[in-house]
Amino acid sequence: RFIALEGGEGAGKSTQSRLLAEALRARGIDAVVTREPGGTPGAEAIRSLLLDPAGEGFGPRAEALLFAAARADHVDRLIRPALAAGQWVICDRFIDSSRAYQGGAGGLDDAEIMDLHRIGSQGFLPDLTLLITVTPEEAAERLGRRDVGGADRIGGRPAEYHANVAAAFDRFAAEQPRRFARIDGNGTPEQTHHQIMDALEDLL
Ligand code: C5P
Repeated sequence: RFIALEGGEGAGKSTQSRLLAEALRARGIDAVVTREPGGTPGAEAIRSLLLDPAGEGFGPRAEALLFAAARADHVDRLIRPALAAGQWVICDRFIDSSRAYQGGAGGLDDAEIMDLHRIGSQGFLPDLTLLITVTPEEAAERLGRRDVGGADRIGGRPAEYHANVAAAFDRFAAEQPRRFARIDGNGTPEQTHHQIMDALEDLL
C-alpha cells in the first residue's frame, strides 16, 4: 500500500509518518517512510536546490518541473520497487503538495501539474492520502518552536500563500473523497495518530 501524508507546514506530517510506520511494523507490516521532495539521492539533490535558503528560488514553472523531476526519480527508484517487494510506503508529501503549492498557491493550472506528473511518474497516485489540517495559529506556534528556517523555507512566502495552499488541499479532499481522509491535526500526536489508524481500517 502507498499512503501519502499531506498538509501545510507544521501539520505534523513527519511525526505522524513515523508513528504510522511504527504502528504498521508492530502489526508485522514492513513499512518504509520517505518524503517528497527527496527519498533518493537524486531527488534529495533536487530538494537541496529547491530549499536552499541562500538560493534565489525558481519561477513557478521551473519549480513545478523540479518537483516533478524529483518525484519521478523517487517513484522509479524507491516507491515502485518497495511496493513491488510487498512493503508499505509512507510518504511525507506527494503530488497533492505540488497541486496545492505550485498550483493552488503558485497559480499554475492543476491540469498542467497533472500533465507533468503523467510525464514524470505515469500519474501514479497513493492508495490513500491523509490530509492533516491544523489552524494557522497552531501551525505558526509549532513552526516558531522549530529551530530551522522559521515559518517557511522557500522564500518567505506570505500568509496568503499558505491560506491558498490550505484552501487547495480542502478542495482536493472534497473532490476526491475516496482517495482522501481528512485528519484533524490540532490535538496531541497520539490523538492525531488514532484518527489515522481509524482512517486506515479498510486497508488493514
Ligand atoms: O515541511 P517539509 O519538509 O515538507 O517542507 C518542504 C518545503 O517545501 C516547505 O517549505 C514546503 O512549503 C515546500 N514545498 C513546496 N511545494 C511542494 C512541496 C513542498 O513548496 N510541492
